Amino acid sequence: MYDRYNRRVNYLRISVTDRCNLRCVYCMPAEGVVQLSHTDILSFDEILEVVHVAVDMGVDKIRITGGEPLVRKGIVHLVKMIAEIDGVKDLAMTSNASFLSKYARDLKDAGLHRINVSLDTMNPEKYAEITRGGDINAVFAGLKAAEKVGLNPIKINCVISNSSDEPDARMVRDFANKNGYQVRFIHMMDLETGYFQPVEGGEGGNCASCNRLRLTSNGLIKPCLFSTRGYSVRELGPQEAIEMALKHKPKRGGLNPEGSFYSIGG
Ligand code: SAM
Ligand code: SF4
Repeated sequence: MYDRYNRRVNYLRISVTDRCNLRCVYCMPAEGVVQLSHTDILSFDEILEVVHVAVDMGVDKIRITGGEPLVRKGIVHLVKMIAEIDGVKDLAMTSNASFLSKYARDLKDAGLHRINVSLDTMNPEKYAEITRGGDINAVFAGLKAAEKVGLNPIKINCVISNSSDEPDARMVRDFANKNGYQVRFIHMMDLETGYFQPVEGGEGGNCASCNRLRLTSNGLIKPCLFSTRGYSVRELGPQEAIEMALKHKPKRGGLNPEGSFYSIGG
């Protein structure tokens, strides 16, 4: 499918939960996160229905994200059911990897192709500070497990404050290079001010070639991370919600003062 700026849209990012075991400083508040109620969160059947319709409309690339996708109960089963849909050529996940060592084998067997793991520093204390309590050793164990089971490529998402030459980013790059992982540097974004830049080493943030739509955990198809628009698959049905999002996909990102990374999926 094509939008009004003739961009081919073939990529759907699905946030399967707004919940997360971590509280990264740039993503979530330390306390007082208002969580969606369980009834607001799409069921697996609802997600699968959206994927079926999206694939019929031309999507062939799916990414599962969150919140933290590995905290959603039954996630391996969902991956399996999405992988079995004819027409899904590329199935990826973005995870903080806290629980990846436990799930890597099952995810691979379920049909996940590849994984992006978020890691902004190589320093355990700093990692714990950024994530407000995360254990960097769990991430390393998760990466090793992903490698062992053959998830490929493994990409590291590294959020940077200013430049990919800053010390933490350099150390993450060295670590990735040593281990055969790819690395993408994501400039810290601000939905409220509309601040974003292209991802270094990736495709995100490049509006002219943007090929994506997003499905939030509560069932809104969003045309852009930096847009307040969202079309409910429950109210409109998946086809109309996707058509509306496609029709309103902006030429470039604007502001999204109501949005948050953990609910839209980053
Ligand atoms: N919990 C998973 C994780 O952290 O990988 C998946 C969801 S997270 C919202 C997806 C991506 O968004 C992560 O790579 C994270 O670093 C990034 N992210 C979150 N807040 C951000 C911000 N303010 N600016 C740039 N990237 C951000
Ligand atoms: Fe959780 Fe990912 Fe947001 Fe960190 S970036 S708080 S791991 S959803």
